[in-house]
Amino acid sequence: MNDSRPPEFKPDAVQGDGVGCHSGKAEMLAAAQQAGKSEVLEQYARDYPLAPDAGPHDQPQSMCPAFGSLRVGLRMRRTATILSGSACCVYGLTFTSHFYGARRSVGYVPFNSETLVTGKLFEDIRDSVYKEADPEKYDAVVIINLCVPTASGVPLQLLPKEINGVRIIGIDVPGFGVPTHAEAKDVLAGAMLRYAREEVQAGPVAAPRNGRAQLPTVTLLGEMFPADPVGIGMMLAPMGLAAGPVVPTREWRELYAALDCAAVAAIHPFYTASIREFEAAVRPIVGSAPVGYEGTEAWLQAIGAAANVPQARIDAAKNAMLPAIRAVLSKAPVKGRITLSGYEGSELLVARLLVESGADVRYVGSACPRTVWSDADREWLEAKGVRVQFRASLEQDLAAVDEFRPDLAIGTTPVVQAAKQASIPSLYFTNLISARPLMGPAGAGSLAQVVNAAIANKGRFDTMKAFFGDVGSGDKAGVWEGVPLPHPEFREQTRKKIIRLQKKLENEAMGS
Ligand code: SF4
Repeated sequence: MNDSRPPEFKPDAVQGDGVGCHSGKAEMLAAAQQAGKSEVLEQYARDYPLAPDAGPHDQPQSMCPAFGSLRVGLRMRRTATILSGSACCVYGLTFTSHFYGARRSVGYVPFNSETLVTGKLFEDIRDSVYKEADPEKYDAVVIINLCVPTASGVPLQLLPKEINGVRIIGIDVPGFGVPTHAEAKDVLAGAMLRYAREEVQAGPVAAPRNGRAQLPTVTLLGEMFPADPVGIGMMLAPMGLAAGPVVPTREWRELYAALDCAAVAAIHPFYTASIREFEAAVRPIVGSAPVGYEGTEAWLQAIGAAANVPQARIDAAKNAMLPAIRAVLSKAPVKGRITLSGYEGSELLVARLLVESGADVRYVGSACPRTVWSDADREWLEAKGVRVQFRASLEQDLAAVDEFRPDLAIGTTPVVQAAKQASIPSLYFTNLISARPLMGPAGAGSLAQVVNAAIANKGRFDTMKAFFGDVGSGDKAGVWEGVPLPHPEFREQTRKKIIRLQKKLENEAMGS
C-alpha cells in the first residue's frame, strides 16, 4: 500500500461509516484538525464566518451543505462528480439531487472502518478517479469529501491534478466546516475558478463555445432565474457591455470566459472564494443587483463605473430602463405586511423589490453570512425600517412571524408550515420566489401576482381554521377509526412511573 497520508493522520478519531451530523460538530472538527485539515478549515472559517451568537444554521440544520457542491458539479457538462462519505449521507444527497432533476449518475466510493483506518479509502478514491478520467467523456472529475472522510484527513490534495487531460478537482465539504449548501456552491465554483485561472496563466485556453464576446462582458455571480441574464444583457447593451457567463458555470470553458470579463456582478453576495479568484485576476467586483427602480439605478451606475463606461452611456442605459421599471412597479403594487426568510442568498434583493412594490416588509432573514457585497442592500433595507438578520436561525425566522403577524410569510419549509398553522398565508422562498425573474422591468412585476394572490387567501385560511378547529392536532393527531377519547389517567400513570424511575436512578447514583 502506498501510504500517502500526512503524519498527523488519526484514523480512530472517527469510527467509520454511519457517523455524521449526529456525531457532534466539535468532535468532528477536532478530529479533522488532528488529521491535517486545519488549513482548509481555517480558510472556510474565514470565508464563511458564523455569527457570534450563531444559531442552528451553524449546523447542517436543514439540508446537507454538500448538496450545494454536488449540484454545481452535476449541472456542468462533461463533468463527473464523485462522493466520498458515509452511505447514509450519499443516499440522502443522491436522492435530493435526483429529486431536483439531476439526470446524471452520482459517483460513490464506499468505505468501512477498515478502509478508513488503513488509508485504503484514499487508494480506492484514486482508483475510481483514474477509471472515470476519460477525456472522451469528461473535462473534469470532481471528488467531494463529506464529513467522515474530511474528519479522517483523507488527503484529496494528493490526487493527481490531471489525468489524461482530465482535470481532477478534490474538495472537502464537511457539514462542520461549510455552514450552508449555498456556500458549498462557492467552495466548488471557487476551486474551479482557481484551476482555470492557473490554466490561463500557463498558456492559451479554449474559446467559449460560441466564440469570444464582441463586447466587454459582466460576469454574473450566483444562480438565477434563466431569463434574468438575458434581461441584464439588455440593460447593459446601451453601455456597450454584454452579460457574460453565470458562475457557477455550466461548462468548463465558460470559466475562462467568466475570468475574461470587464467586471463581476456579485448578484449573490456570499461567493467569497470565487470573488477571491476574480480579484486575483484583477477584476472589479460590484455588489447588489438591478432590482426595482433604485436598485437598478445604483447598479447600472456602479457597473458602468467599474467597467470605465463614460457617464453619458451610463445615463443612456438608465434612461432606457428606469421609466419602464417605474411604470411596471406602479401598475403592480403589493399591499400587505411581509416577513421573508431563505437560504439562497438572494433574500435581500427580493426584499428590496417588495419594498419598492409598496409592501410593508418588516424582517429579512438569510442563512448566508453578511459580506461587504451585501452591505448596500442591507443599508438600503435598514434605512426603510426593515430588520435584516444574517445567519438567521429557524427560531429567529419564526419569532419574526410571531412578532410581526404578517399578511404573508415568505420562508423555508418549516417557516411556511408554522405560518399556515397560524392561518397566515405563506409562500416557499425556494420554489415560488426564486423561480421568478427579479431583475429589471421583467422582475418588477413578477412578484406582485404571486404575492398578492397569496395574501388574498387569508380568508380561506380563516374558514378552514374555523371549520376544522383543533381536529387532528396535539393528542388527536394521526389516523383514528373512531373519535379519539382523552385518557388523562394514562398520562397520570406515566407521570408517576417516570418520577419513580428518576428517584431510583438518583438513589443508585448516590449509592455508587
Ligand atoms: S455529509 Fe452532510 S449528511 Fe453527511 S454527516 Fe455531513 S452534513 Fe450530515
